[in-house]
Amino acid sequence: MTSGEFESLWQKIESEKTRGSRAVVVFTGAGVSTLSGIKDFRGQGGLYTQPWHGHSVEDILSLTSFMADPSVFYGWAREFCYCLDRFSPNIVHRAVARLEELGYTNGVITQNIDVLHQKAGSRQVFEFHGSPSMHHCLRCRRAFDYDAIAPTVMKGEVPTCTCGGVIKPDIIFYGESINTRVMEKCFEMASAARVMIVLGSSLLVQPAASIPVIAREAGATLCIVNAQSTPLDKIAHYKFDDLATFAQEIVAKIGDATNDEYKA
Ligand SMILES: [Zn+2]
Repeated sequence: MTSGEFESLWQKIESEKTRGSRAVVVFTGAGVSTLSGIKDFRGQGGLYTQPWHGHSVEDILSLTSFMADPSVFYGWAREFCYCLDRFSPNIVHRAVARLEELGYTNGVITQNIDVLHQKAGSRQVFEFHGSPSMHHCLRCRRAFDYDAIAPTVMKGEVPTCTCGGVIKPDIIFYGESINTRVMEKCFEMASAARVMIVLGSSLLVQPAASIPVIAREAGATLCIVNAQSTPLDKIAHYKFDDLATFAQEIVAKIGDATNDEYKA
């Protein structure tokens, strides 16, 4: 990334800001969380594309497998989804939170399920693939939050409801549809965007990967920041490789997030 390229993008962001907070939209993927030490288990080439005790991640995260035997998912998730206290937001999460705080954006669209954007101070987080923040009983639909479920999972047990039903996290499993309300909101944000900033997504998972395409086709300036190449690089106006450097450039412009609990 040359400083000239970043400056040119930043001027665009500043000029669009005058149109209001809907003009700039940030969309994040697993690369953002790997900087916090969270393994990219969905992405191609991610560490956990290899089997876990003989189960592929696609199988573990498939709705059919979950219905057949939820103990496989919860055994796996004990190592990946229910120990979120071990992870802290990094400079990318903080830069994203700061952009919202100062009115450059009205939130962030994320494919991540680790709630690190919220921990960094982002208020409006559109979780395209859901998250374990909330759970529902598959029988009576009673809701349970993360704190109510995590201790049971960490003990190695499958959480069940008082009605006897199995409790499932509100993560979008393979074979499940994206939440219609969330998807419509994200597509609407993308259509209204004047600048779309993609951070740490390989843009391989659909329908999430169509979000930047919608923005680009509606005339937005598209900026992709990802270590690897993506299928949308050819339609991007800006492509940077280094997420941390990009976030540092933003922080140099507008300062760090005011939620200083997680500053190193
Ligand atoms: Zn129930």
